[in-house]
Amino acid sequence: MLRAGIVGLPNVGKSTLFNALVANAKADAANFPFCTIEPNVGVVAVPDERLSVLAKISTSEQIVPTRIEFVDIAGLVKGASKGEGLGNQFLANIREVDAIVHVVRCFDDENIIHVSGSVDPVRDIDVINLELALADLAQVERRMERTRKQARTSKEAQLELEALEKLSAGLNEGKSARNISLTEDEAEVVKPLGLLSAKPIIYAANVSEDDLASGNEWVEQVRQVATAETAEVVVVSAQVESELVELPEDERGDFLESLGVEEGGLKSLIRATYNLLGLRTFLTTGPKETRAWTIIAGMKAPQAAGTIHTDFERGFIRAETVGYDDLVTSGSMNAAKDKGLVRAEGKEYVVQEGDVMLFRFNV
Ligand code: GDP
Repeated sequence: MLRAGIVGLPNVGKSTLFNALVANAKADAANFPFCTIEPNVGVVAVPDERLSVLAKISTSEQIVPTRIEFVDIAGLVKGASKGEGLGNQFLANIREVDAIVHVVRCFDDENIIHVSGSVDPVRDIDVINLELALADLAQVERRMERTRKQARTSKEAQLELEALEKLSAGLNEGKSARNISLTEDEAEVVKPLGLLSAKPIIYAANVSEDDLASGNEWVEQVRQVATAETAEVVVVSAQVESELVELPEDERGDFLESLGVEEGGLKSLIRATYNLLGLRTFLTTGPKETRAWTIIAGMKAPQAAGTIHTDFERGFIRAETVGYDDLVTSGSMNAAKDKGLVRAEGKEYVVQEGDVMLFRFNV
């Protein structure tokens, strides 16, 4: 399962957000086995409106959403790359995630101390990005020493050295690795380094409940930073989300309406993270269950079948496939078949977002 790490300075709302994520997942536990693997790791359902629509068509007994994992990586502070705070530990945690959700404080509250004395999201973003860049720089420099020797005799090492030199120069200026331009070959050769500042990132702008509908000046500042980095911003209110999970389900709508929003931002955050990871969803549906499955963009039909069961991949014959929209407009699987919208796809078929699939296989 793919993992996203929640990072940010202290007191920005990381734990509040993480707890809301986990509480929501627990509420969904009837539908899938919930597990908290470690206190700071939660498995979260990816909201998908298509599931209930399909479940109605197939009169499914249950709905099973797909899931991603969130890790609360607390305690990243200025100086972490030099081992300050619990610096090294936290950097090691970030190394293990596939994407970063950076929570940025965009709310003012005089009762909640800001580690740097005032609310300033751009400075906060810089602090964290700089720590990640410095940690990467140290790693790149260690690697350069080794590669320099090998580069005398090996073409491949020469290519790597060139890539490392570009990275080192950029990181030295405080740039994130993801914003340093490398050729495709260079990017490939330094991939195994797993640089922290190369990981895809979303900025979660944490606002007070009053600003959830309208945003605020701080959110705009975050957007500007994100645009420059081609990163994404999701506006979320950790506080609203934590209040929502305390409310009975039938009162949540009214509460959100009173704030002028449809949701507290958590769903958008989960969805944005899912997309950021380059994930795609295909669906299966029948009387027993309607279910969403995660694949990586570009996977072919047999591999997709393998996410359900290894036997499906091994014995793959074909996949009866219909696009979600085609199925819904037709009203039933049989109607879609009659219209010729259900295709028999073979081993080379690249599965598309929203494909509804039935696998035929030999046992
Ligand atoms: P962390 O250190 O980043 O994990 O921050 P916490 O989640 O522990 O939050 C620090 C404090 O800020 C807590 O008292 C939260 O209740 C409060 N907090 C979190 N989000 C918001 C928010 O959107 N508005 C306000 N006013 N307080 C918040």
